[in-house]
Amino acid sequence: MTDHSSLHLLIGGEQLSGGGRETQDVIDPATAEVLGTLPHASADDLDTALANADKGFKEWRRESADKRAAALTKAASLIRERAKDIGMLLTREQGKPIKEAIGEVIYCAMLFEFYAGECKRTYGRELVRPTGQSARVIYVPVGPVAGFAAWNFPAINVARKVGGAIAAGCSVIVKPSEETPAAGLALVQALLDGGVPADVCQVVFGVPDEVSRHLLASPVIRKVTFTGSTAVGKHLTKLAAEDMKVTTMELGGHAPVMVFKDSDVDTVLDTMVGAAFRNAGQVCVSPTRFLVEQDLFENFRDGFIERAKAITVGNGMDQDTRMGPMANERGPEGLAKKIADAKDKGAKIDTGGERIGNQGFFFEPTVLSEVPTNAEIMNEEPFGPVALINPMASADAIIEEANRLPYGLAAYAWTNDPKLRSRLAADVEAGMLAINGANVSAPDAPFGGVKWSGHGQEDGAEGVMHCMVPKTVHES
Ligand code: NAD
Repeated sequence: MTDHSSLHLLIGGEQLSGGGRETQDVIDPATAEVLGTLPHASADDLDTALANADKGFKEWRRESADKRAAALTKAASLIRERAKDIGMLLTREQGKPIKEAIGEVIYCAMLFEFYAGECKRTYGRELVRPTGQSARVIYVPVGPVAGFAAWNFPAINVARKVGGAIAAGCSVIVKPSEETPAAGLALVQALLDGGVPADVCQVVFGVPDEVSRHLLASPVIRKVTFTGSTAVGKHLTKLAAEDMKVTTMELGGHAPVMVFKDSDVDTVLDTMVGAAFRNAGQVCVSPTRFLVEQDLFENFRDGFIERAKAITVGNGMDQDTRMGPMANERGPEGLAKKIADAKDKGAKIDTGGERIGNQGFFFEPTVLSEVPTNAEIMNEEPFGPVALINPMASADAIIEEANRLPYGLAAYAWTNDPKLRSRLAADVEAGMLAINGANVSAPDAPFGGVKWSGHGQEDGAEGVMHCMVPKTVHES
């Protein structure tokens, strides 16, 4: 199986490394030690991958849905068998606790199992026409896909890029993050071992902007799918527009947690504190802006601080660790700056706020309260272990603040008031809304955002359909 001592490209099924290619180190975020050396694809490698993807698409699009389903199902079962090993690779390169890492890998297997069923249900429709004529809408695969995945979910992000494409009959070239390459490589290897042809799913690495510019400049690629920051998402969308390529953009968020006055504070805290510090807050759907009705505010803040202080931070490989390090050196540096800015503008630092030790990229679970809306951290995704808690005067004020930002990925709300719940479903500007819970992601549910959080969905039936395009066939 892939490990950090044998990192490689995966082009046409060949594991390529060496050969004078540029390289970069992969770092363990818990120790800052080098785990392995990653080869970068040369321009020739990328051209070979494009030629393979073109050829692979022409063959795969003609395969039966049964064959595609069988490969996805077999890959899923291999991923389940290898989950512990892949999870360990993931924790070493990304930092999250091993239990979270294995859970992430199992989610990938569940997603492929769901897609295996879904690829048989890409139904079209027959339009009403006079006798002797017909018009049908059929769905055909969009073409070769280029996928760019982020480091925060090294397995799921890659699975989302490749799973829908393969189910739909597309070929795909994926670039996992160079910072977390091994988990994605192991997933793609399971797909190849499960029967997905070598030209249908390939893996490349390199300088991100150079790889994406090279792949997007090719007419072979018909769809681009990206997970990462809004800034890079906008840049890639513009590049894709040059050739009218289809895009799916899964970008950042800054999720509001609306805590209305009928909520039970302990129930909310028992659910949401763990969610806020999951993966050290480096989650696009992290609950970050806690908007709490005034009457509950003090109890809520005190309970939050107590629970945050009790979190065990450590190396993700230790079974007792509940929160690992941040994934890269940029993490603690960027977060410390945002916290300093909030403090200068009048926010209270209730607990945490500092980097831990000088080995690895650890940061304290942090709670800030009464944070002014002009603080940078109230406007830009914190992407770290920090919760912002503000008192709010009314339900109206909460909803207005929830919708204030240009982001709209996930939102959370706590209330049992049926009228308010209907209003939230209609009015909250987000791709996913959780009411009285913390989960916004499931293999059968579309996952994606609105506004600056992007467009297009992964997972759910939509995850396959967004890799297909309708074609109308008129016959007389
Ligand atoms: P980034 O957008 O620069 O990088 C995210 C991923 O995209 C990385 O894996 C990187 O390799 C890749 N990437 C970067 N530029 C690219 C390009 N031109 N073409 C193709 N791929 C490219 O973000 P970052 O510096 O890693 O983190 C900055 C912020 O981005 C975070 O603080 C967070 O707000 C956001 N982010 C969001 C997500 C998410 O899940 N939506 C994931 C990672 C980062």
